[in-house]
Amino acid sequence: MTATPVNFVDHEKFFDCVHCGLCLSFCPTYVELGTEMDSPRGRVATMRALQEGRLPLDAEVVRHLDLCLGCRACETACPSGVHYGELIEGVRPYIEEHYQRPPLERFKRQAINTIFPNPLGTRAFAFLLKTGAALGLGRLARWEKLPEQLRYWFGLLPEPGGVTAATLLERYPAIGEKRYTVALLAGCVMPAVFGATNEATVKVLRHNGCDVLVPREQGCCGALLLHGGDKKTALDLARKNINVFSRLDVDALIINAAGCGAMMKEYGELFKDDPVYHERAERLAAKMKDVAEFLGSIPLQNPTREVRATVTYHDACHLAHGQGVRQQPRTLLQAIPGLRIVDLNESDWCCGSAGTYNLTETEMAHRLLNRKMDNIQATDADLVVAGNPGCLMQIRAGLQQRGLATKAIHMVDLLAEAYEDNA
Ligand code: SF4
Ligand code: SF4
Repeated sequence: MTATPVNFVDHEKFFDCVHCGLCLSFCPTYVELGTEMDSPRGRVATMRALQEGRLPLDAEVVRHLDLCLGCRACETACPSGVHYGELIEGVRPYIEEHYQRPPLERFKRQAINTIFPNPLGTRAFAFLLKTGAALGLGRLARWEKLPEQLRYWFGLLPEPGGVTAATLLERYPAIGEKRYTVALLAGCVMPAVFGATNEATVKVLRHNGCDVLVPREQGCCGALLLHGGDKKTALDLARKNINVFSRLDVDALIINAAGCGAMMKEYGELFKDDPVYHERAERLAAKMKDVAEFLGSIPLQNPTREVRATVTYHDACHLAHGQGVRQQPRTLLQAIPGLRIVDLNESDWCCGSAGTYNLTETEMAHRLLNRKMDNIQATDADLVVAGNPGCLMQIRAGLQQRGLATKAIHMVDLLAEAYEDNA
């Protein structure tokens, strides 16, 4: 059966793939399932056939494309420079517009797209997490009589105290000599669920000579919506942030959530056909830095407080594969006195979080989490460090489910602990 040719991505981008298959063993879904249609090469071929009208947009095609984590491990592995992220993010809005999902699936995806970019939605989400945590429901993750999937869902609830809300001031002065002025993306989920991490980011930046600006009118960056296929709303949100941050005279725009950073650095590409926003989007994207990337690019004010712990580092996909930030977080860990650092096997293998993937593709997300937990457990570390809130929630679910004493912590929270308290 054939269909009409369509155009969801620049067609030449498909020709970069030379079908060599070197990406296959780096793709988590291919390694788990062993099917060509669930490999990067297979998905590139599927998307190309879809665009050329050689394949209809049916349930099977959508299934294989939905199962892609968007982790971009294939981009790192590909010697031919295939822009896999652009291809998969191009097809997702096309799927959402033209494919009729079953009602429950449609409801789930619409609910996710409604909750996360909306401040009221994220507060309601945080309230649910807090209530679940206060009732100790996370412990049900260890109750072996429950089905494994249900235990996984309960594991996503944090431990009591695991949700911290914080509203930041609009400006913080540098501690000591001022060397830089930076802006901070506070995010949408971060202020309601990882507020302490935002505060820790401000603390570390101030200790490193930064005046920190946190404009109040900023909002969600749009990454979760873009991954979910709602490109129009994602771009509306991005425009709002471009307006807000472009007005500021700053040396860098700091981001402490890898998923947001990877998407925002692509603002230039996303607005390439928008004559009003393209130039501003490119200029702003050039200033964006993950917090570890920024700290790794300046002379670091070394932390002085000892932190006695054994730590291991998990590379968030959107930091390692999406932004190429791998060494800087490790260098920062080495700067903390007292830490013992142990390597994590398959550290850049996706943990299954992948934006909202763990809410829509629970089974695969859980399989990948189990693999990650086996590797974490083998390190015997007290702390597993990552630079992305989604990974932290996912790994915490795995730790709860296995009843391990290891804690999952954001890179910048650990770093903040090693600096003396603010003056
Ligand atoms: S995506 Fe890259 S690595 Fe994978 S088959 Fe195509 S050219 Fe080879
Ligand atoms: S983005 Fe990740 S899951 Fe998707 S094809 Fe590439 S490696 Fe596989």
